[in-house]
Amino acid sequence: MLEICDLKVELAAEAGLVRAIDGMRLALTRGETFALVGESGCGKSMTALALMRLLPENGRVAGGAVQLDGQDLLALPESRMREVRGGRVSMIFQEPSTSLNPVMRVGEQIVEAIEAHTDLRGKVARAKAIDWLRRVGIPEPERRIDDYPFRLSGGQKQRVMIAVALAAEPDFLVADEPTTALDVTIQAQILDLIRDLQRERQLGVLLITHDLAVVSGMAHRVALMYAGQIIEVAPAAEFFSHPKHPYARLLLQALPDAGRRGEPLAAIAGTVPPLWLDFAGCRFAPRCDRAMVHCAGTPPTLTDEGLQHQVRCLLYSQPGEALARVPVQPRAVWSQAMGQGVAPLLDVRDLHVRFALKAPLFSRGPRHFDAVDGVTFQLHAGRTLALVGESGCGKTTSGKAIVQLLRRQAQISGQALFDGQDLFQLHGPALVQARRSVQIIFQDPFASLNPRMRVAEVLEEGLIALRAELDAGQRQERLLSLVEQVGLRRDALQRWPHEFSGGQRQRIAIARALAVQPKLIVCDEPTSALDVSVQAQILNLLRELQREQGLAYLFITHNIGVVEYVADDIAVMQRGRIVEQGACADVLGQPREAYTRTLLAAVPRLNVSPS
Ligand code: SF4
Repeated sequence: MLEICDLKVELAAEAGLVRAIDGMRLALTRGETFALVGESGCGKSMTALALMRLLPENGRVAGGAVQLDGQDLLALPESRMREVRGGRVSMIFQEPSTSLNPVMRVGEQIVEAIEAHTDLRGKVARAKAIDWLRRVGIPEPERRIDDYPFRLSGGQKQRVMIAVALAAEPDFLVADEPTTALDVTIQAQILDLIRDLQRERQLGVLLITHDLAVVSGMAHRVALMYAGQIIEVAPAAEFFSHPKHPYARLLLQALPDAGRRGEPLAAIAGTVPPLWLDFAGCRFAPRCDRAMVHCAGTPPTLTDEGLQHQVRCLLYSQPGEALARVPVQPRAVWSQAMGQGVAPLLDVRDLHVRFALKAPLFSRGPRHFDAVDGVTFQLHAGRTLALVGESGCGKTTSGKAIVQLLRRQAQISGQALFDGQDLFQLHGPALVQARRSVQIIFQDPFASLNPRMRVAEVLEEGLIALRAELDAGQRQERLLSLVEQVGLRRDALQRWPHEFSGGQRQRIAIARALAVQPKLIVCDEPTSALDVSVQAQILNLLRELQREQGLAYLFITHNIGVVEYVADDIAVMQRGRIVEQGACADVLGQPREAYTRTLLAAVPRLNVSPS
């Protein structure tokens, strides 16, 4: 159905010509889900944009062809391509906050897609749009259809975007991180929906994701990309049970789960090399734990290593002498006893957060909405409490209230005692001090960095405001150590946020939180936008900092694998209340509440382990 032949994509950048995709080949059959996985910046999303002919202005296809049922999409005039785009091929973009039109009601955006690509019009198209909203799990679709995007949560916007993509009833769907922003129950629902459509309509799906558990549950075949090239392709079961490329093996070892609790994850040191370099040998060689003497000078090609299994690695095609290995560090045993028996660092008592609703003048409906309705928990220094639950359950609102971000928008009652002081009662210098001690890392790295500030300014802003004692030289030193801590190159300081991928932007956001040396960090889905190996690096970094500095984390997430790995304690939230809390192993091992059981049942799992 879809065939990509020797595709090459180049981007003009300040540093030189970036070869974002360098000779990609793949073929998809009707009804197949083909997953493209790999770290940020390896070319996955650029592949999707190239085949949709939506490359950024500085990008161009430098060679190759993309054939859909024998028709070369790259050679079509733009007017014909517009019919293909959205009609035969739809795309779900990664970033819901920038992909919906903010000045159009969500229903209009779905109806527009229905009317452009099907025979339905007017009321019938609207009824169909309501049906799509229901199918993607939007509650009260008859009412929400007339909302503007800003009234929806991140997860709801993502679901609307999925409805827009599917409403045109395409033959082929490109899904770029389609469920990254969603909690597990909605994710399971959306993945089921895509599977149903696939069966009904023989839909072909190109799934781009860093979530290997989703891939194992959805994909028929998997291609792993690295630095602009495919380095391994295999049927999904084979890929997860017998990965061959050293990078694939390391990626699977980097996955957090309960079995690896207490051990550092096998983070892959280093980053993807800049793609403006000319590569003489294997692009993965500087990070490879099995590199051989000739890997630096011989570029590997993709060779057959079994039925439908191809690998780009000299270990298979030209085995040779291994390089001397650095011995592996003995695995550290993490102290789980930290903070036990002493006063909590954060003691939240009966927290309520109420938002005013703009109801019509004579309406009898409620005039307020209780996002958080009596939440109580404690968090000790050096420990991690995971707050889990579906979108809209109040977990992010609780985090924001504690970090003092809702003072103006909402009515807050209850207490948040931090080091014995009630955060909600602080003003002036005491509030500044508290802001330095309690930081937040946001879920959406696109919206949380000021696009008009270079990275150095983003990081320095907090230092100037909250650590006035540092002089310019000390601040510069701190900035350099921060970018290195979060795995970025030093030249990142002089670049703009838009020059980074989503994962890299999240690292900048993490560096910003760490800059002022806080005691508590509210981590709001901090790794949901990151690739598995980057996620492992960040989780390792967070745990390392916790061990060294006794940091406490309030970890808001829907990723139960991450919870199992990082959390000491867990609180499960539903409709503004905590329905179950306790030690992580107890709650996840023997959940008492039906809601917790439902949440756990919806978690996608890798059910094959690498050999
Ligand atoms: Fe590692 Fe060499 Fe294989 Fe590259 S070619 S992945 S450096 S063993």
